[in-house]
Amino acid sequence: EEMSYRQRRLTDLEKQIKGFTEQYPDALVLTQVGSFYEAYWEQAKLVTKLLGMRLTSKSFGNAKAPMAGFPLTQMTKHASTLVQQGHKVVIVDEYQDLLRQKKGLIERRVSRVITPGTGVDEAFVKIESPNFVLALGVVDGSSEGETIGMAYRDVSTGASFTRTSTLATLRDNILLVQPKEIVVDEQLGGTVLGKQISELLEGERMREGTMISTTSTDAIPSSSRKAPSVTQTAESVLLAYLARTLVSNPPPRTKSTYVDPASVMQMDAVTLQSLEIRESLRGGLRGSLFGTVKRTVTPGGTRLLADRLCNPSTDLPTIYQRQALAQAGLGGLSVARPYIRGVLRSLDDTPRLLQRLAMNRASAANDLCGLKRTMRALDTIKLEISRALPKSAADAEANGWTVAQIRAIRELVEKLGQYPVLAGEIEAAIDEEALTKLEDAQELKAAELAELGETLVAKAEEKRKKALKRGQLWGNEEAWYSAKLQDLHDKLQRLRLAATDLQCDLQERYHAPQLFLRDYKNTPTVRADMKDGWTKLDEDKRLAIFSRTGKTRDYIVSDWSTLYKEIESTQSKIRRLETDATQVLIARVLEHFDDLTATGDALAELDVALGFAEVAEELDWVKPEVDDSRTLEIVNGRHPTVEAALAAQNRAFHANSLTMRHPDDAAEQPSFIHVLTGPNMAGKSTFLRQTALIAILAQSGSYVPAESARIGVFDRIFSRVGARDELDRDRSTFMIEMDEATSILEMATARSLVLLDELGRGTSPIDGLAIAYAALEHLTHVNRSRTLFATHYHRLGQLLGYEEENPRGKGPWEGVEFWCTDLEESEESVRYLHAIRRGLNSDSAGLVVARLAGMPARAILEARRIRDMLLVDGQVY
Ligand code: ADP
Repeated sequence: EEMSYRQRRLTDLEKQIKGFTEQYPDALVLTQVGSFYEAYWEQAKLVTKLLGMRLTSKSFGNAKAPMAGFPLTQMTKHASTLVQQGHKVVIVDEYQDLLRQKKGLIERRVSRVITPGTGVDEAFVKIESPNFVLALGVVDGSSEGETIGMAYRDVSTGASFTRTSTLATLRDNILLVQPKEIVVDEQLGGTVLGKQISELLEGERMREGTMISTTSTDAIPSSSRKAPSVTQTAESVLLAYLARTLVSNPPPRTKSTYVDPASVMQMDAVTLQSLEIRESLRGGLRGSLFGTVKRTVTPGGTRLLADRLCNPSTDLPTIYQRQALAQAGLGGLSVARPYIRGVLRSLDDTPRLLQRLAMNRASAANDLCGLKRTMRALDTIKLEISRALPKSAADAEANGWTVAQIRAIRELVEKLGQYPVLAGEIEAAIDEEALTKLEDAQELKAAELAELGETLVAKAEEKRKKALKRGQLWGNEEAWYSAKLQDLHDKLQRLRLAATDLQCDLQERYHAPQLFLRDYKNTPTVRADMKDGWTKLDEDKRLAIFSRTGKTRDYIVSDWSTLYKEIESTQSKIRRLETDATQVLIARVLEHFDDLTATGDALAELDVALGFAEVAEELDWVKPEVDDSRTLEIVNGRHPTVEAALAAQNRAFHANSLTMRHPDDAAEQPSFIHVLTGPNMAGKSTFLRQTALIAILAQSGSYVPAESARIGVFDRIFSRVGARDELDRDRSTFMIEMDEATSILEMATARSLVLLDELGRGTSPIDGLAIAYAALEHLTHVNRSRTLFATHYHRLGQLLGYEEENPRGKGPWEGVEFWCTDLEESEESVRYLHAIRRGLNSDSAGLVVARLAGMPARAILEARRIRDMLLVDGQVY
């Protein structure tokens, strides 16, 4: 009897829903029906499976359709689950006028399409990491070598950026941005470049573990396709897509920031990964640079910190300003620091609140209060800062204040802004106490029930969201809605009293003490309980019996029906007015959108600076000297993460120093290419990585783990260090290495830092040595980058004229130096020294490591024998 919907005539609701499923063939459609979201037919089966719910059914006419449903309040939770399992979710809502209820089919519209990259406050949007949706743009008829525009935005915070890329660097740029979703204009397919981009994205998507979901869209107005620049094209693709997904509440217009490649240190995906900046090679925050330095206490600060570490600055004034703030945090602000951090910790996520308000999310009253608390907190923070600022030159001197610090702090305070009037308005309008008091839905329901019959929790929820005070002042004037709202509430009060009176009257008139007024599914009735005995209700022929259950009877009493209608309409008017008033209040807040955005940025900046101060103090870091030379000088540097890991096991980290002087700085004895030899496990790669991490921290504005450091700004870092477990099924490890080395030799400049670990392995020793030699030659004479080159090709020393008495070498290449690590071996034990010293260690101690690994004694002996024979032979690589 369960007739398929295909074979019978559909009801109006079914037709309506079918329209939506046809409009969005690749999505799951959830339709509001009263206080539930529902899905039907095949989609119901899928939804119940994905959400682990029970499949039910719904009657349409005299047919039954499989159905999945859940209450409105559970939507964000369930939508999140569906999106996380790779589905798009279309939300269809009822639209009806609260005051004028029409008969017949309720109008329904798509209010939102939820996709992985367009989350606003769903559970899948992580608080501390950005949730970007990225769009790509090319200019008509462009070919391979041309620029690709990238526009990306985090809808939940409003953070918006544009960048440019080439096809060759697109993958790196995408991995840097880490978008949750990529939008591609369908027209792109028509161009050569577009085809190549699509192939690349397809390849990425096939890779295991990438979270990227690609969407193609054809919603782009054709005029935008002729936009003058690729970033503008990308932006129009993005905006068109957002308009289509965030249908009823598009995101506010935000100016996006163009990320100028010259203003940030460039790092490709392999570098980010090999330096374990955002996450460790094993995955996760633990063991990453981000995880080690993170002391931020706000979500905004944490997002900014991650961004700083992945995009360190190359702009000296910017770096100095960041340093000055951190320095102030350690000096003049050190007493106030814990207090300010406490205040920051208590604040809501400002950009998220702003976005939610701008996109008309349901939590308006709470969000407005959150913003108000932030506005009030600004005064507290500023008061603390002004107390700490020096009152005289002697005062400045005593507390370590410098002019640069004072200027940086003043600028920040300026950017924090002030909103006394706005905060007052919100305070006056919203009953924060009522909000917190009514937080609990249970409590709410009880409160509502006590007032008037049975009411849905949803209604009470709505009340919570708009807890407006009455009869309040805005600034010095009475709020425009106040008098009206007061009148309505007075009227409601009168009506409720009238209802109580009516109830008493009826109880008396009919001798029914247990009689009470109620509304059941919006039908007002008078209920009497027969177990009290005989009432006169039954005798009254004017009363219609609405229902009988057991001993209770419900009557329709016209006096109550009339009164109830009035109560309902007054409540609707109050809701309407509250909605309007809230909208006006939101509009007032949004007038300050740009300022409030700046406030959010400044708070994040303050949080990062104080976090830098915190970590510097805790781990005994120093302020690096950053300049525009090509020098690199690190005295007793440490690897922040390895040091922390060793400290946890009560082991000490051996600090190492490094000095590089570049010929471009007219150094007398230039030294900028360091060839590092020595046994495995003795700390070579740790040393390589720590050098890069110190540079990254310095250019992020942080202090660094060293006794002192001088860093000539780096424009790029290339790191090819450590296990490369990034599998590529099409190419061999050696091919990948050659590919990566190629990009370094093509792109590294005299301002770059290059870290190469065992370049040339994976082929024959003679070819490997030749490649290592040639790469080194290229780096020395063409790229002229500061380079750390760890290798087991000891013969490079001989080839480059290395002599033990003169480790700098009088070799043919100026600037090359030899450094090495050592191992102390006794009969019983092996000890790694982890100290980097001048010289060349031609013993890689590979056999020692093999022995430690437990290789059979026979094999070890054999290895020794053949090695000694080869050594005599003179065939050393
Ligand atoms: P290599 O690259 O020479 O094979 P690694 O740099 O990977 O060696 O170091 C191996 C281990 O040695 C590290 O995981 C760490 O525990 C320890 N180590 C490295 N450098 C130091 C150091 N400077 N001080 C103390 N321990 C270190």
